[in-house]
Amino acid sequence: MTDVSVRFAPSPTGRLHVGNARAALLNWLFARKHGGSFLLRLDDTDAARSTSEFAQGIEADLRWLGLGWDRFARQSERFDFYTAATGKLKQSGRLYPCYETPEELELRRKIQLSRKRPPVYDRAALKLTDADRAKLEAEGRRPHWRFRLDHGVTAWDDLIHGRVEIDMASLSDPVLVRSDGYPLYTLSSVVDDGDLGITHVIRGEDHVTNTAAQIQLFAALDYAVPVFGHFSWLLDAEGAGLSKRIGSLSLADLREQGYEPMALNSLLARLGSADPVEPQLDVQALVAGFDLGRFSRAPARLDPHELDLLNARILHASDFNTVRDRLPAGATEAFWLAIRGNIGRLVEAADWWPVVSGEIATVIEDPAVVAAAAETLPAEPWDGATWKAWTQAISARTGAKGKALFHPLRLALTGRDKGPEMAPLLPLIGRDRVAKRLSGV
Ligand code: GLU
Repeated sequence: MTDVSVRFAPSPTGRLHVGNARAALLNWLFARKHGGSFLLRLDDTDAARSTSEFAQGIEADLRWLGLGWDRFARQSERFDFYTAATGKLKQSGRLYPCYETPEELELRRKIQLSRKRPPVYDRAALKLTDADRAKLEAEGRRPHWRFRLDHGVTAWDDLIHGRVEIDMASLSDPVLVRSDGYPLYTLSSVVDDGDLGITHVIRGEDHVTNTAAQIQLFAALDYAVPVFGHFSWLLDAEGAGLSKRIGSLSLADLREQGYEPMALNSLLARLGSADPVEPQLDVQALVAGFDLGRFSRAPARLDPHELDLLNARILHASDFNTVRDRLPAGATEAFWLAIRGNIGRLVEAADWWPVVSGEIATVIEDPAVVAAAAETLPAEPWDGATWKAWTQAISARTGAKGKALFHPLRLALTGRDKGPEMAPLLPLIGRDRVAKRLSGV
């Protein structure tokens, strides 16, 4: 069997959103699962809308997710290949010139719709004679070029949808080259997939009809036809298309909001599949259980609450080394281990750091308990057992138990009424700070 080769092909006309991340991740996992290679291809032929900032943003987003690429290509450097393919298609008669303006096409479309007919291009340009074309060109019209589809059924065995059959007469012949000579996505994507030896095209189901036309194009250009897999739509928890909320779900925003990339990866690797979502700390750990055949055609729902829960579970299990660069300056491993079970996002660590290292506003809720605490405060060194021994002494002196004992102490020592376990926190706060907080200053 040929080595598996897949690609992720974003257009650098914006930042990646969650839907793009899903396409990137599923391709990456597929490559890793099958010992294949993962190509990052920037679809940047649209010079007016593509920017190098967006291209860099895409690379940064993929690195953030931990999805490295084995190969890299950008379409703006591959125009020669598209021109050569265009020449070949013209020669074989599959590419034909059309002269309709967008307004004319729109009018025809409306007429077809009003007659309850599908708005499919009527191939009027195929009937033009050489004289007709010469006349149109003399009027200053420049042709755009359509690929003549073979009518009949085009079918493929989709990795997710199973057998798909498309009646090609229901599709318009796709435009491959614009009137300014500029190649369009349907062409450039096939040329690159063919030329770069892509074996599996895994993308969203919005591309299903493109696939039917592209299968014919692969064949017309004498390329091997890849295997296709189309994953379902991603909807938000309410069932609305995620695209409506793209702005709020860009990877850059999620990163800024303090989400862990592995929370997103863990969710996206299983969302829409029959397998359960499980928090994983490393993207490599998602490879073993990954099976595209387990994905369903039904839309997948992304619930932000589920992302929050995963994020917390990932933090609770993360070791110091994976987070240390993003913790407040000076934060120690003991601090991290003391607080990690109590945070939902890493940014919350900064709320706890002053509790062990700086000044906080203390709250004296029960002066008797606090006074007894000050009087029984043990000498250092302190360790994880100090809290228990000390609170027993306070309880013996005041008779306070349970919440009546612990709540005023927590408030006095941390300024908050809930938070991490006190036993590991206490030695980190240290005797001087504890004494000061108990004195109410
Ligand atoms: N640049 C195309 C897109 O973002 C690629 C689609 C494909 O995977 O073929 O929609």
